[in-house]
Amino acid sequence: MNLKGIKKKISRADRDWTPYMRRALELAAESVEKGDIPIGAVLVNVDGKIVAQAHNERELRHDPTAHAEVLALRQAGAGEKAWRMTGMTLVVTLEPCVMCAGALSLARVDRIVYGAADPKAGATGSLYKIHEDKRLNHQIELVSGVLEAECRELLVSFFRKKRLEADEKKKRP
Ligand code: ZN
Repeated sequence: MNLKGIKKKISRADRDWTPYMRRALELAAESVEKGDIPIGAVLVNVDGKIVAQAHNERELRHDPTAHAEVLALRQAGAGEKAWRMTGMTLVVTLEPCVMCAGALSLARVDRIVYGAADPKAGATGSLYKIHEDKRLNHQIELVSGVLEAECRELLVSFFRKKRLEADEKKKRP
């Protein structure tokens, strides 16, 4: 690798992902307004520009595949007129599932940055390690735990509220 290549790699790895995660958190909060679990994602190009932003719309679209990551990839593909997302970073509030990790691998993104881990369904460390599976022809760099507490709290409070609402319903005669 030449010096220019090394410099480029260092500057990209050093990027502060916090502002992008803040935006993903704002998007996640918008999911709740539509009755969806709060998960948000932004796709960032090599220059640090957000090229797509989405939140979970599974309930809204009646679509089991309408996860924030997949919607962001579709948006970027339509905008850039290209399916290949080389050089891009997907920033998402929750660790991607099997489907999304697979889609990100197919999209050839350089990096996944996530906030909270998902021990029940996470596919980039928790249950599977799809991003670094050498049997696939593309591996993805991983950054985890960015604004982890905020990302987790948003989900925890969503499910707490859901449980309270369900309990209230039961109490009604
Ligand atoms: Zn997913």
